[in-house]
Parts: sequence; structure tokens; C-alpha cells
Amino acid sequence: MKTGQTSLFIPGPTNVPETVRQAMNVPMQDMRAPDFGDLTLGLFRDLKEVFRTETGEVMLFPGSGTGAWEAAITNTLSPGDKVLMSRFGQFSTLWVEMAERLGLDVEVIDVPWGAGVPVTEVARRLEADKHDEIKAVFVTHNETATGVTSDVAAVRRAMDGCFHDALLFVDGVSSIGSIDFRMDEWGVDLAVTGSQKGLMLPAGLGILAVSQKALEASTRATMRRAYFEFGDMLTLNADGYFPYTPPTPLLIGLRASLDRIAEEGLDNVIARHHRLAEGVRRGVAAWGLDLVAEHHSLYSDTVSAIRVPDHVDAREVLRIAYEEYNTSFGSGLARLAGKVFRIGHLGDLNEAMCLTALSVAEMSLVRAGVHLPMGSGVGAAQSWYAGAAEQGARLYVAAE
Ligand SMILES: *Cc1c(COP(=O)(O)O)cnc(C)c1O
Repeated sequence: MKTGQTSLFIPGPTNVPETVRQAMNVPMQDMRAPDFGDLTLGLFRDLKEVFRTETGEVMLFPGSGTGAWEAAITNTLSPGDKVLMSRFGQFSTLWVEMAERLGLDVEVIDVPWGAGVPVTEVARRLEADKHDEIKAVFVTHNETATGVTSDVAAVRRAMDGCFHDALLFVDGVSSIGSIDFRMDEWGVDLAVTGSQKGLMLPAGLGILAVSQKALEASTRATMRRAYFEFGDMLTLNADGYFPYTPPTPLLIGLRASLDRIAEEGLDNVIARHHRLAEGVRRGVAAWGLDLVAEHHSLYSDTVSAIRVPDHVDAREVLRIAYEEYNTSFGSGLARLAGKVFRIGHLGDLNEAMCLTALSVAEMSLVRAGVHLPMGSGVGAAQSWYAGAAEQGARLYVAAE
């Protein structure tokens, strides 16, 4: 029998704020009612602000982030098209697999798990591609398996630097709405997210922002698609409707979560994620443990992947946290299984929750056989949070 609150520190699904959860508790409604657009048109408009696009279109597919990946590919590319992808974690690996399954000719750049998009190598491959055979460049903005955030703007500069015409695809499932992302400024053509991470909702929506250039490409792309056809979606979305049944409670929840983001201010949401993440990282450093991310410039503000010492099985840390302390952390994925546990620190979160995460992690680590001074990580994070609260944003800028 578990008592008290269940703590969820996984990088999706994230905690759903109580106000959002209450908002979703509604009777089913008529998705063809004359006033249905009053809800949906506002969602499209406000989601554009989260993606930071004025010129792009936003689409909501009943599905998950993976569905939005598929929608992005099948609408804008043709079988046999050459695409350039880099692989450095489980999510970038799955994206490569999907592209291969869908019949693309994938040129993969493999880099160590813990590295980010190898911008110099991407630039070199694009430079060598004199006839624009590469039709798309794929970037996993925030690799959730390793806690690495890559520099999308730098990829755009590399593409512009050699006047390359490829489409730029970005997986922003665990970054958009939590980490700085700028669709228009970075010239992103297809940006993908889901409802259950930064948007603080249950899973169920695959969310996609599409540039005008990508929309144009969709008129020529010959890959087969049916459910995910952009044309059907956009035609009905124009008046606020859908080509098939949308999950209306989720749309109402999305209204509530977008209102929260607007009230806090997107810049403040992003700054909060940085402040909270930095406290977690200071805690990890105080334990004497390493992050999977190779360099501080790559540290993710939404998830930290933490290496445990060789003699310890990270699965044991997860088990103790779950069974003894009613707390979930993220597991090590694929080749990181047993070597890593992850603390998800995104969405509806504050300092007190992060301190709980560090406190439970400390107890679980010690019980699993890691030698560390109990309270060390919590103390380091408390110092950071107390100081950061006192001195505001200035302190964290100075600390960088
Ligand atoms: C969660 C996640 C996905 C998968 O999204 P689903 O909604 O589970 O399909 C893809 N990419 C990244 C980076 C993620 O974090």
C-alpha cells in the first residue's frame, strides 16, 4: 500500500497541473458544432507562439510525437530521397529507423552517445553535396536518452553557409515549450512535438509546425500517406475542424496549458527550466557522478542522464526509488540500460519538487551501493536555488 504523493520525474509524460487536469474533465462535445472553431483556432494561433513561428502552420494529429515524425516525413519527401541524419541516442536512433522503414536513403553520421549534432561534419557533407542530392537534414534538438541539447541555429548556419536547399527537420519533442526554440529565426521547416512533455498534458497529440517551404514540398512529395495527409488536415483546420475525430478533452486541456504558459511567459518558462536544471546538475556534481552529456554546452535543461559507478546497476536505483519511495525516474535506454538513470525536470515543476527528486535519488543511490555523503546533492541544489531566488536571473547569467 503506497501512501502520499506519487512523484514523477521522468522526461514524459510529465506532471499535469491540477488546473489542466480539472479543465479536461468535461462531457464529450460535438466536434462539428458551429462554434467548435472558437476553441481550435485559438489553439493553432497560440501554439505558433510556442514554436515561435508567424509564417508556419501548426497541425495537431491525434497520435504521439512518433506520429508527428511520420507525418513530417511522408508529406514532404519521396521514396529514395537522400537525407542526412546524426545518431547519438535512442530517439535519434529511432528516427533513423523510421526514415529507413519509410524508404529514404539515409546517410547517418554516428557520434558517441553524449555528443550532440556534429555541426562541422554536417557542414562538410552538405558542402560536398554539390547537386543538392540531400533533400533533408534531421536534427534531434534535445536527445532525451542522453540529456543532450544540440545547436539547431548552428545547423541552419551550416546549411546557409553552402547555400544548401535541403529541408530542416527538428525533433523538439522534449524541448519545445521548455528550452529555447525558434522556428522562424532558425529556418526550421518541420518541427515536431507531442502533448505529454513541455505542454504538460497526457499523451495523445502529435504536434507539428510546418514552414511554407515544407508545405510547397508537400505538393510534390510522392511518399504514400493517408491518415497524416497535410492537405486534408489544413483544409478542415482553416475553419477549426478536423478530418477525423480529435480528442476534445485534450484540446481543452491544451487551452488550459497554453494559458498557463502565456501567463508565466514563454521566456520565463525557459528561464525556470534552466534554473531548476542547474540545481539538479549541481546536485549530481556534488555526488561526484557524471552526466552522459560530454560537455557543459550540451547540458539539457529538461532531462539529466546520470551515470552510476561501474559496480552499481542503475536499474536497482530505479527499483528502490519506485518501490520504497513511490518515485519514478527515467531508466537508461538501450545501450545505457543499467548504466544510467535519468531525472526528468520539465513541465510543471518547481524547486521543492527538484529537491525531492535529489533527496530520493540520494537515498536510492546509497542503498544501491553508491558511496556519497547523504544530503550533499540536496545541499548543493538548495544553495543554488536559494541564491538564484535572491539574486534573480543575474546570478545564473554570471554563473555561465
Ligand atoms: C518522447 C520523445 C519522442 C517520442 O514521442 P512519443 O510521443 O512517445 O511518440 C521522440 N523524440 C524525443 C526527443 C522524445 O523525447
